[in-house]
Amino acid sequence: MASSKDATKLTPMMERYMEVKGQNPGSLLLFRMGDFYELFHEDAEIASKVLGLTLTSRDKNSANPTAMAGFPYHALENYLHKLIRAGHRAAICDQVEDPKTAKGLVKREVTQVVTPGTLTDEALLDPRESNYLASVFVGKKLVGLSWLELSTGRFFAADIELSGLADELARLRPAELLVSESPAREEELLPKLELRDMFITKRPPWSFASDNCQKILLKHFGLKTLEGFDLEPDTPGVVAAGALIEYVQETQKSSLSHIIRLEPWRQGRNLIIDEATRASLELTRTLRGGGREGSLLEVIDETVSPMGARLLADWLSNPLVDIKQIDARLDAVEELTQNLPLTRDLRDELSKVYDLQRLTAKVATLRASPRDLGCLARTLALLPKLKAQLAGRKSDQLQLLETDLDLCAEVRADIETALTDEPPLLTTDGNMIRDGYNAKLDELRELAKGGKAWIAKYQAEEMERTGITNLKVGFNRVFGYYLEVSAANRDKVPEDYIRKQTLKNQERFITPQLKEYEEKVLRAEDESKSLEQELYTALRDRVAKHVTRLKNTAEVVAEIDVLAALATLAVAQGYTRPQMTDEPVLDIREGRHPVLDKLQPTGEFVPNDSLLGGDNHGRVQIITGPNMAGKSTYIRQAALLTLMAQMGSFVPASEARIGVADRVFARVGASDELGKGQSTFMVEMTETARILNTATDRSLVILDEIGRGTSTYDGISLAWAVTEHLHDVLKSRTLFATHYHELTDLTSTLKHASNWNVAVHEQGDGIIFLHRIVEGSADKSYGIHVARLAGVPRDVVERAAVILKTLEDDHLDETGKPTVPVRPARKDNARQLSLFVVEDHPVFDEIRQLKIEEMTPLAALEELNRLRDELNK
Ligand code: ADP
Ligand code: MG
Repeated sequence: MASSKDATKLTPMMERYMEVKGQNPGSLLLFRMGDFYELFHEDAEIASKVLGLTLTSRDKNSANPTAMAGFPYHALENYLHKLIRAGHRAAICDQVEDPKTAKGLVKREVTQVVTPGTLTDEALLDPRESNYLASVFVGKKLVGLSWLELSTGRFFAADIELSGLADELARLRPAELLVSESPAREEELLPKLELRDMFITKRPPWSFASDNCQKILLKHFGLKTLEGFDLEPDTPGVVAAGALIEYVQETQKSSLSHIIRLEPWRQGRNLIIDEATRASLELTRTLRGGGREGSLLEVIDETVSPMGARLLADWLSNPLVDIKQIDARLDAVEELTQNLPLTRDLRDELSKVYDLQRLTAKVATLRASPRDLGCLARTLALLPKLKAQLAGRKSDQLQLLETDLDLCAEVRADIETALTDEPPLLTTDGNMIRDGYNAKLDELRELAKGGKAWIAKYQAEEMERTGITNLKVGFNRVFGYYLEVSAANRDKVPEDYIRKQTLKNQERFITPQLKEYEEKVLRAEDESKSLEQELYTALRDRVAKHVTRLKNTAEVVAEIDVLAALATLAVAQGYTRPQMTDEPVLDIREGRHPVLDKLQPTGEFVPNDSLLGGDNHGRVQIITGPNMAGKSTYIRQAALLTLMAQMGSFVPASEARIGVADRVFARVGASDELGKGQSTFMVEMTETARILNTATDRSLVILDEIGRGTSTYDGISLAWAVTEHLHDVLKSRTLFATHYHELTDLTSTLKHASNWNVAVHEQGDGIIFLHRIVEGSADKSYGIHVARLAGVPRDVVERAAVILKTLEDDHLDETGKPTVPVRPARKDNARQLSLFVVEDHPVFDEIRQLKIEEMTPLAALEELNRLRDELNK
C-alpha cells in the first residue's frame, strides 16, 4: 500500500494520538489500543527505561519508524505506580465508547491525569500516610499556602509569612507543589523549593489571578461568598486554594463533591514546630534513615485503621495549645484507660473498618467500584455497634463523637439491597446486583439461564437422534453456538444441519433452532449486563449524594480510633495523664524517653525528673557530662513529653505537670547533624538566630551542643551569650546539653539557671554510665576516664590528668601561652614524651626487629609472653 511510503501522512489513530498528546504537555500519554496501553515516541523511550518494557516500533518498514512500548490494560495500576515514583506524570487516554458499537475509529479521551499529588488509588498510596497536593502563592505581604488531600477531600488555606513557608512544607511534606511559573516573586522561591527535592508543577500565572481563583472556588462549592468558611475573599491563601482546585479539576476530570469545605488554617491554634525541630526530634521520621521506623510516631501508633493512623500523625504534627481542647482529649483517653473491656471492643470493631475516607472520595469522584461500595456498606454495618458502645460515656469528647456518629443507615440499606454479597471489581463483570432487586433483571437472568439449560438438553436430544455419541455444543466469538461432530461421524450428520466450518478432525454445524436460542441467550446476557451497569450507576450516584455525611462519619471513626489507640498505648507502656497548666513550668517525675523506653527491654531505661520554671526551679538547665552519658536523650525527652501531652496523649512518667508551650525548639550542634551543603556552622547559627528572634516566655528550647561547629573559645562565647539572652530577655524554658564545662560557671551570674550532670559510677579503671541526671556540675575529668576506658595507654592518661589540673588552676602564662608542666623523666630513663605527641613504647622497636620466620611457634609464644610482661611493667 502507498501509505507506508508517505511518511508524513498519519493514520487517523495516530492523528488522534498527536492531538491528545499536544493537549497534555508534560505528561506521558498512555494511549489505550485494544487490550493495551501504548506509549509512542519519547514517551515510549522513557517508559521502556522506567518500566523495563521492550521498545518496538510501529511502522517498521517506513524510513522513520515510530518508537512504541506498551503494557496490558489490567496492569495499569502497577505501571502507573512506577511512573509516578520515578517522578513522571501520566495522562490516561481511554476508549470512551464501546469498540463493538463504535462506527469508525473508537473515540478516545484523556480520562485522568495522574500526578504525585493527585493520586487516589489505594494501590498507589500508603494507607497510613496523607498524600498532599499543595499550592503556593506569593502575595504582597504574606504567602498563600493551600493544601488538599484528594483521597479524603481535606482542604486548607493559610496566609503565612514567607519565613514560615519552609516549616509548613516540612510539616505537610506535600507530594506535589504548585507554583506560578511567572518569574516575578516566585523567582527567589523556586530555587529554594527545588533544593528540597520536591515535585514541583509550574502553572501559568493566570491560574493564580485572584478573580479567577475566587470564581473557581465559589463555583466548586456552589456558594455566593466564602465568608461562611471564615475566609476573607482576597487573601493569598484563597488564591492558592483556587489555583489548586483548578488544577485538580483539570487533572481529575471527575466530580470532586467530596471536597466540601475549605478550612482556614491559622497559626496560634497549634503549637508551632519548625522544620529543624521536627527533624531533630524525629517526630514522624528519623534523621538518619528518613523512614517512619524509629520515629516517635511509629512508637506511639497503636491505631487499628488507616484513617486513625493518618489522624494520629496529624495530631502529632499539630499539637494543641488550648488547655480546654487538650483536656477534652485527655479526658476521653483517661476514660478509655479506665474501661479496658470497652476500649478492646471498640478496637475490635475499628479493626474491621475499611478506609471510609478514601472510599468516600472514590464515591464522590464517581470512581467507586462495586467492590468499593460493598466495602462501604460493610463498614457502615459496623457503626451501630460502635455507637452503642459509645453511649453513656462520661467524657464530653466521647459523648460528642457518639452524637456525631451518623450511621448513614439509608445509604447502607440502599447498597445492601442492591449489591450482591461479593460484588466484583469491575462493572463489566456482571454479578453486581442481587437477585430480586429488579424484576426486569431477574427475568433476563432467567432467560439466559434457561437458554443454557435448553442448550444442554438440545445436545442430549441431538445425540440421541443422530446416534453421534461425541456430538457436542460449543461456542465461539465468530459464529456463536455450534454443533461439533468428529470427522469419523461425518456420515451420520442429518440433512438439516448447516455446515459452518471444517477443521482437520471436526466439522461444525448450526441449526435454526440453535440460532434462535442463541439469540435469546446472548441478548438476555447482554441486556442483563447493561441493565446491571445502569442499576449500579444509579446506586453509586445516589450514594454520592451523601458524601458529606459519609465524610463526617469517617472523621468520627478516625478519632475514636486515635483516642482508643492512645488509651491502649498509655496502659501498655505505663503512661500517666499529664496535668496541663498555663504556667511556664515543666515538672516531670521519673520521665522516660518514649522511643528508647519502648525499644529497650522493660525496666532498663533509667527514668529522670525534668524540673524547670515555677518557684522552686530555674528555667534554664545546663547539663554537662561525658559523651554517651545520656544528655541528648534527657533533653529531648522533655520536648517529646511536652509535645505528646499537647496532642492529648498520656506521657511516660510517674507524674507530670506541663505548662503549655507555644513553640518548641530543638537544635542540634553542627557536628551532630548531617551537612546540608551549607557550612554546618552557618546552619547552626542561622537556626540559633531564629530561636533568639522568635522564642517567647512560653516556649521550650532544647539546645544540644550548640557552638560545637567552631573553635572552642568561639563556641563557648557564643553558647554563653545565647544562654544569657534566653535567660534574661526571652525567659524561655531552656535545656542546654554541652560538653563545654566552662558553661557551668554561667549559673553564678544567672539567677534562674542551674547546673545538672549525668551521674557516672567509677568502677576500677573504668566508669559506668548511670544515665541519671543529678543537680550540680559534672566532674571535669570524665573525658580522661573515657579515654582510659577506650584503651588509651596509661602513660598518656596520667599525663592528661596532670595537664588538666594545671589548666584548671591557671591555664595561661603572662604571654598568653598555655602553661603545661614539663613531663618528668621515666624511671627507666627511656625516651621522653614531648607534649601531645605520643611516641612508641620501646617494646615496639623490639617487635619490629623480631625475625618471626626464623622462630619456632613455641619460641614465638615465649617471646610474646615476655613482651607483654615488659609492657605491663
Ligand atoms: P550524650 O548526648 O550524653 O552523648 P545520649 O543521650 O546520646 O548521650 O545517650 C547515649 C546512649 O545512652 C543512648 O543511645 C542510650 O542507649 C543510652 N541512654 C541514654 N539515656 C539513657 C537512660 N536514661 N536510660 C538508659 N539508657 C540511656
Ligand atoms: Mg549528645
